[in-house]
Amino acid sequence: MIRLCAWCKRLLGFKEPLDDVRTTHGICEECLKHWGKRKGETYMIFQDDRTPEQKKWLICMMTDNFMARWGEAKGGPSYAGWAFSDGEQSRCESWVRHRGDAKRVRIVLGSYRPPAGPGHCHIYVWDGKDRA
Ligand SMILES: [Zn+2]
Repeated sequence: MIRLCAWCKRLLGFKEPLDDVRTTHGICEECLKHWGKRKGETYMIFQDDRTPEQKKWLICMMTDNFMARWGEAKGGPSYAGWAFSDGEQSRCESWVRHRGDAKRVRIVLGSYRPPAGPGHCHIYVWDGKDRA
């Protein structure tokens, strides 16, 4: 398996079984310094689907109960956000608010970072065409 840093996607190495091409996640030293505490403690897992250009967009963030026990983030809060382009705010926000699992929906800047500590944050890219 291919082992990647869950934050910056840097290659950390390979893990048995080597013929399994799926990816597994860890944390690199640099991201550990930035995000984490000591090894073995829980930390915020940050996944970001945006391109550099999309990082200038606003994000509709929510706190998500459904994912709260996801993987290594167990016990911590889970945050999900959708970056949207100009003019898409009302449609994107309305879609997020109508999700059954959405809590604390808010609009944040593209430079948003989740708080440190245990948890999971995933920033997706809103595609209004698929969600009309
Ligand atoms: Zn990293």
